[in-house]
Amino acid sequence: MQRIYACELTPEQYIATEAHLQVRSELVCPRCGKAGRLHRHGVYRRGITAGLGQILTVVIARFLCLTCRGTVSYLPNFALSYRLVQASTFEAFLEGKIDRRDVQN
Ligand SMILES: [Zn+2]
Repeated sequence: MQRIYACELTPEQYIATEAHLQVRSELVCPRCGKAGRLHRHGVYRRGITAGLGQILTVVIARFLCLTCRGTVSYLPNFALSYRLVQASTFEAFLEGKIDRRDVQN
């Protein structure tokens, strides 16, 4: 399961500050509803486009619920689930801002 959380960092800032280490899970498992903080359960890497359209690699924090044994990944809100393109680039495309370099790339 993936959860998207509010993150005020750019992808570049997220990478530079290792922001995946600051992610905290919710206090209730979103899979089974059991109260109690989830346990860190590694990370995975995924690509995301940056401001000029180049591809960066960000580290995503993953947590495990010891009750249901399900994992939950926390994506910063600049990322879209299962998409390489950054959320702000996709928004700009939808708004017709096709002269932006990241949209063109
Ligand atoms: Zn659970």
